[in-house]
Amino acid sequence: MGSGVAETRASVKVRGIVQGVGFRPFVHRLVRRHGLRGWVRNTSEGAELELAGAEGEIADFLRELVDEAPPLAMIESVSSEELPGEGEYEGFRIIESGRGDEMHTLVSPDMGICPDCRRELLDKSDRRYGYPFINCTNCGPRFTIIKSVPYDRAATSMAGFEMCPQCESEFGDIENRRYHAQPNCCALCGPRVFLLDAGGKEVPGGGIEGARRGLLEGKLVCVKGLGGMHLACLAEDEAACAELRRRKQRDERPLAVMCRDTDCARRLCRVSPEEERLLNSPRKPIVLLEKRYRAQLRHLSENGCLGVMLPYTPLHVLLMGEDIDCLVMTSANLSDTPIIYQNSEAVDKLRGIADLFLLHDREIVTRCDDSLYRVYAGREYPLRRSRGYVPHPVTVPGLPEGLLACGAEQKASFCISKPGHAFPSQHIGDLKNAETLAAYEGQIGHFEELFEVRPRALACDMHPDYLSTAYAERRAEAEGIPLLRVQHHHAHLASCMADNGLEGEVLGLIWDGTGLGTDGTSWGGELLRGSYTGFERLGTIRPLPLPGGDAAVREIWRLGVSALLEAGESCEGLTDEPLAPLVAEMVRRRVSCPLSSGMGRLFDAACSVLGIRQSCSYEGQGAVLLEAAAGEDGGEFDRAFYESGALDVFDWAPMLRQMAAARRGGESARALAARFMNTLVSMAAEQVSRSAERTGLRRVVLSGGVFQNMYLMERLPERLRSLGLEVYTHSRVSTNDEGLSLGQLRVLEAYYVSGGTAEDS
Ligand code: ZN
Ligand code: ZN
Ligand code: FE
Repeated sequence: MGSGVAETRASVKVRGIVQGVGFRPFVHRLVRRHGLRGWVRNTSEGAELELAGAEGEIADFLRELVDEAPPLAMIESVSSEELPGEGEYEGFRIIESGRGDEMHTLVSPDMGICPDCRRELLDKSDRRYGYPFINCTNCGPRFTIIKSVPYDRAATSMAGFEMCPQCESEFGDIENRRYHAQPNCCALCGPRVFLLDAGGKEVPGGGIEGARRGLLEGKLVCVKGLGGMHLACLAEDEAACAELRRRKQRDERPLAVMCRDTDCARRLCRVSPEEERLLNSPRKPIVLLEKRYRAQLRHLSENGCLGVMLPYTPLHVLLMGEDIDCLVMTSANLSDTPIIYQNSEAVDKLRGIADLFLLHDREIVTRCDDSLYRVYAGREYPLRRSRGYVPHPVTVPGLPEGLLACGAEQKASFCISKPGHAFPSQHIGDLKNAETLAAYEGQIGHFEELFEVRPRALACDMHPDYLSTAYAERRAEAEGIPLLRVQHHHAHLASCMADNGLEGEVLGLIWDGTGLGTDGTSWGGELLRGSYTGFERLGTIRPLPLPGGDAAVREIWRLGVSALLEAGESCEGLTDEPLAPLVAEMVRRRVSCPLSSGMGRLFDAACSVLGIRQSCSYEGQGAVLLEAAAGEDGGEFDRAFYESGALDVFDWAPMLRQMAAARRGGESARALAARFMNTLVSMAAEQVSRSAERTGLRRVVLSGGVFQNMYLMERLPERLRSLGLEVYTHSRVSTNDEGLSLGQLRVLEAYYVSGGTAEDS
């Protein structure tokens, strides 16, 4: 360039997710700023660049490349190497990657409305003022509108909307913030909203204003979001919320809300700086927040927490306007079937439920529920990883292509591999009915198409009755590919290892409700040692007879009776269930009493014995209510252990006897619930430290649905660390069964890579 400054040349490799997120135009602008020449192109691992220019400018460029990367880019590493000689570059070029050499066609998750678009949306002088589908390179729908790859407008449900000249010129202008924003549109050329009445007839002039009026009058409105329909009503309107529950036959499960902004959220809940950041992040998950007062907002949630999200589409922003602070926004679905996502389906299935339908003509291609996250130890703690996160992969160096893990049953998910990346699916729901199974199979097919991958080996749970197991068996048979059955709690252990990028052998404290063990009984209070290649059961808890099997999972008073009897206690004064004597007899004679060492079941039993609750309307409710009931109490019950073969078994019988005595003595459930969990913390510390000593292993992973319990999470890891152990918890996939498919995948990889024949596990 002849300015007298030394010229240099560099080759730069960027690893991470940089496709479909406005990365190349960003690079282009940065290159201009620093007066560089060269080119950029996508690679299977990210992007590759060659740059020529002044030495200092290249260094500045590299720093800003990381610091100022577009919000959706996930840069894992940047490496640069000096190149000899002078390159021949004409300015700067973006080299279009041919279809074939792009091994990963990474698809971006859907992203919540960005601050720039929000500003334009509310700016009377902007040409998109009040337009509910405004979006740009940094925000808007992605995963939920993509039909096939490569990702361009023609392959999305925006294909039918032809861009007007003005949108077209933004799309083609690299300096514009809508450069290559595939869903770019405006009121002239894009989708439109419309309002239907309860009978499905369009309300003339209805639109968003009509829906707002309906909400303010206490009506229930079906609102089409990014990944499916919501049912909305005013959150403060207790009558409307009660009506919503009645019409939807939604038992007692908590209802999530959408708050207009963080200040509105703060009026209901405590919001830490990390929680505020997560609420406002482009992924816009539902964040589980602690209510200001526990007794508050009972009509929304019966426990101490409330799921809160902020408006994540322009439609939501307009719907809330300036006068609606908080809406209930619950997924529109019927009795545990997948979320409704098509217009006709909504009008059909929500007849008699929704008073109004606020819909639009941009088709949702793929269902994707709202994600549900917590902030734990300053990090994200997923409880449901879905919209805004899927289909982002988890990086697993060396992972081969074509492995498919089929998940379990509750909170079903699957996970599929491409080289170096595992792709966990979105939330699918409990795989217990034909509709959910159809959604599950459809989603697997969709992932295979989007990522252009066919499975060559499968993993599933050991439980023969899970629909995911049957699915895996059918495919293995039909396609002649190997199938590995992975023990449920081993998969949990591997999942938490993979989440933390661990290799080698660890201890795993795996606490959940249920999962088939290798001895044919139900497990779930497990202490394992293990790696991706195998595991050994070191400890567990005393098995509890479940009188009536599944019936005991709903009618948890049966578990209370069972636990008391096993502990040598009577249930007198602790239950007034008319059938208690009958159930007691079942336990005594071991009739229809499958055994379970599930920690979730012990929580249920304690919940009943403490008089907190006697029957549950959803899985895990007993544990949730017990946690919510717990107050401050530093006490503990007695602990005992016994050996069974090589197993170190926690005997809860002495604890149960003391609990019963304390109850009879009139002690509060508040204190006793805390004492119960304190005892579990101490027992885990004792059991784990014994095993750590015996095995020499210092690393402990915590996984399983019970670790959604924050009372335990605030105490147990700390206690284990105080014993000199390294503790690992989840942050990338859920601790419950949803996260388990990632673990299955890594166990499958270990077998596959070591050349083990899959069936011999
Ligand atoms: Zn935007
Ligand atoms: Zn337009
Ligand atoms: Fe589990």
